Amino acid sequence: MNNGAIVGINWGDEGKGRMVDLLTDHYDLVVRYQGGGNAGHTVVNDKGKFALHLLPSGVFRPGVVNVLGNGVALDPENLCLEMEDVRSKGVAVSPENLKISSRASLLLPWHRELDGLEEARLADKQYGSTKQGIAPFYSDKYQKKTVLAGELFYPEELREHLAQLLEWKNLTLTRVYGAEPWTMDKLEAWVFEYGERIKPYICDTHILLRDADRAGKRILFEAQLGALRDLDFGIYPYTTSSSTTAAYAPIGAGMPSIRIDRVMGVVKAYSTCVGEGPFVCELFGEEAERLREAGAEYGAKTGRPRRVGPMDLVATRYGVEVQGATELALTKLDVLSDMEKIPVCVRYRTSQGETDDFLFPTLLASARPVIEYVPGWKCDISAVRRWEDLPRAAQDYVNLIQSAVGAPITYISVGPERDSYIHREG
Ligand code: GDP
Repeated sequence: MNNGAIVGINWGDEGKGRMVDLLTDHYDLVVRYQGGGNAGHTVVNDKGKFALHLLPSGVFRPGVVNVLGNGVALDPENLCLEMEDVRSKGVAVSPENLKISSRASLLLPWHRELDGLEEARLADKQYGSTKQGIAPFYSDKYQKKTVLAGELFYPEELREHLAQLLEWKNLTLTRVYGAEPWTMDKLEAWVFEYGERIKPYICDTHILLRDADRAGKRILFEAQLGALRDLDFGIYPYTTSSSTTAAYAPIGAGMPSIRIDRVMGVVKAYSTCVGEGPFVCELFGEEAERLREAGAEYGAKTGRPRRVGPMDLVATRYGVEVQGATELALTKLDVLSDMEKIPVCVRYRTSQGETDDFLFPTLLASARPVIEYVPGWKCDISAVRRWEDLPRAAQDYVNLIQSAVGAPITYISVGPERDSYIHREG
C-alpha cells in the first residue's frame, strides 16, 4: 500500500487540505496534479493558519518532497507570492522540498485578463469564475497555445514561441473583446522575471516519480476541488476546467502508469458550494445563515459566502463512485453539534419521480431534495478523540452516511486543528 490520493467527493472545500496535512506524515512525496490558484486549501497547524492555493499541503512536513505536476495551471507570479507568504511564517520552501514539472504549462497574465473579460461579457449569466485565468489557461493548453515551464531553459526558442503566441492572443484581446493588446516587452519582462524565480525548482517529474516509486517511496496525490466540479463528471458547465478525479492523478502528476492503492475521499458532514450552478440540496434564509456561520463557510481565496445545505446522499454516493474512493474522511462533524434535528437529503425528486441517482446537469436545476431528519446530539464533540466516546446520535449519523454512500468512513474530524480527529478502522 504505497501510494494514495486525497480527493474531494462533493463541490470542493471539503477539508482536503487538513487531511493531506495530517496524512503527509505517512508519505515521502505530495503531488498536486490539476488545477491552479483558483481554490484554497486551509491548513491549521503548529505554524499557524494557511490558505494554500498552488503549493502542495505537504510543504509543512520536513522531509516531504512536494511536486507540482504537468496537470496544474502553473501561475509563476502567484506561486512566488505564495512562497513568500509561507516563508514569512517560518515554513521552508526550497528546491529541496519543491519540484515543478518541466511539462507544466505556464498560466500567463493574459489568462487572468481574459477570464475577467469573459465574465464581464457574460454579465448576469456568469459562471462565477474566481478570475484566476484557469478556464482560458486550460483552453489554451489544449489548443497548444501556451508555454511549458521547461522552455524557460531555452530563452532564444522561448522568445520566438512567445512572439507567435502574442500575435495570436492579441487578435482575441483586441478584436473579440476590444481590449488593449499586449506588447512583447511587457510579456517578456513578466515571463523572464517570474521564470527566473521558479527555474531552480523545475525538473523532470516523470523521472522523479519513477525513481521514487522504484525506490519504494510513498506518494500522495492531492486534488483541488471535488468530483462534482470535474470537467467530465461534474455539473458542467459550472465545473472547473480540469479533471479532479483520482483516476487522472497519475497523468497530471507525470507518471501515468503509477498505481494508486488507496483513494481517500473527503466529505463534509453537510454540503457547501461556491459560485454558480445547480445545488439541489441548498438551504436558504435563517437556517442557511446559521449553518454558514457555524461552519465559517466563506471562500478561502475570495471570501465569498458559500452556499450551504444538508448532507446530500445522492451527490455524495455519485462522488464516491466517480472517485473510486476506498475510504472516506468525514470532516466538520462538530459544526452540526447545536442542531436539534439534522436534515439529510436522501433522494432527488424530478418530474419523472424520485431517484437515488445523480442527474444529468440540465435536469439538476429543476430537481428538488427529499429531506429526512435524524436526531442531533446537542453537545460539544470537539474534544472527542475516540469513536466510542462520540454520542450515540453522532455515531448513528456517521453510520447512516457510510451505509448510504458505500465506502467506509475511517476518519472523522471534529475541529480544524491537526489533532482534532477520530480514526477508526475501516
Ligand atoms: P479544502 O479546499 O478541501 O482543503 O477545504 P477548505 O480549505 O475550505 O477547508 C475547510 C475549512 O474547514 C478550513 O477552514 C478548515 O480549517 C476547516 N476545518 C477542517 N476540518 C474541520 C473540522 O473538523 N471542524 C471545523 N470546525 N473546521 C474544520
